[in-house]
Amino acid sequence: MAVFGFSALLHYSEPVGVRSLPRIALVLALAALAGAALAPAQAAEGKGKNFASEIMTRADELAKEEKLVEAGALYRKLLFANPKDDAALKKLRTVNTKISEKLVDIGVGKWEEDREEAGGILRAAARLQPEGKAVQAAFKERGFKLHEGEWRTEAEIDEYKRSDKERGDSRREELRLNANFKIIRQGVFRIFTDVAGGKTKIELMLNALQAHYDAYCEFIYAFSPRFPSEGLDVVFFMKREDYKVHMGSDDTLGLYVPKAGASFFFLTGEGEDFATLLHEMTHQLNDKVGEIDLELAALEEGLAEYFGYAQLTSGNRKIQLGKVHGPSVQRIREALYNRDGEVFIPLEELLRARRSEKSPFYQQSWGVIHLLRHDYPNGRLILFEAMASVCRRPEVRHSAVEGGFHKVLEEYGSNFAEFEKVYRKFYAEVK
Ligand SMILES: [Zn+2]
Repeated sequence: MAVFGFSALLHYSEPVGVRSLPRIALVLALAALAGAALAPAQAAEGKGKNFASEIMTRADELAKEEKLVEAGALYRKLLFANPKDDAALKKLRTVNTKISEKLVDIGVGKWEEDREEAGGILRAAARLQPEGKAVQAAFKERGFKLHEGEWRTEAEIDEYKRSDKERGDSRREELRLNANFKIIRQGVFRIFTDVAGGKTKIELMLNALQAHYDAYCEFIYAFSPRFPSEGLDVVFFMKREDYKVHMGSDDTLGLYVPKAGASFFFLTGEGEDFATLLHEMTHQLNDKVGEIDLELAALEEGLAEYFGYAQLTSGNRKIQLGKVHGPSVQRIREALYNRDGEVFIPLEELLRARRSEKSPFYQQSWGVIHLLRHDYPNGRLILFEAMASVCRRPEVRHSAVEGGFHKVLEEYGSNFAEFEKVYRKFYAEVK
């Protein structure tokens, strides 16, 4: 269990430019608002237990005691497990409103003394409750407007717009791209490409990027996904050869490079590789939007595969997650029956690996995410814990089960042996 105080909410991802301000005084002042440490959840007793209802009861108790951060973290779990859980959604909003309003009071009180610090507090309030009346009023009264996911003054908006082109140019330089790479802006995306003409090809790519982004934000709604005001950067090379030279990579169809904060692809010419596009973009969204650093390769790659095999329709404007991916199931089966030289990777090994070159690591990892999302008892709660425990935002990470995937399984009355048994049976039978 991670235990965070209320004040920890202010430590995450400040807007660019105020990231490094010291906030010790603020943190100390806010520590007084923090709820007491959350008691560890009781050890799981068995499979039949109704975890969701227990979590709800505990969350309600905490909310009643005004332990708002703690209560909110539990409502997030329920909402992730069941996005249609209106009660959890409503209660999470209530809790977020209360925290947000407290932060607004503090921010407003600090305004004259230290505008930059006060602005940071108000932005934290806005992230928790973007539509909050108190926070909106506080910003508006001080001459701020919401622009591209960030509250800015008129002068800042002008500067942002003016510098948008410059930012594109400087990003192009950082990414070591030639001047013949044009820049296309679409919503949150900045696309760099040397593809001349052939506009429909790029259009299909842009549609897929947007549909994928929307689906990802919906999937991770309970995490309060962050609007990446620094943008999502995507590079499309016309020629594979140029991609190879630029990336120093012979055997990939696309890559996300976290250090560069950009994803790189090339147009294959024989029908674009949308599975690779969605796979690699998932890595960028985990990094910048979900702000999750999945240390377990099976989860990071499994999620990327899960999104990678989403079905795109209507000119790539629509996307559907969660279909059984036949070719992956086929490979898992070959491994299960030791056919064609495939060997099944024990799930305990798979889910402890920091990286792996083994086959069929990717397919089996897809299988983990698909099973957790669609067929394993409490699977979505288990997935939430595994993702939330490595989220960079304290209000999400708060009270997530830490210590590895086996701990998470135990928390929900399972273990690796049980998980593997169900997994093997599911993929031996699924159609
Ligand atoms: Zn990957």
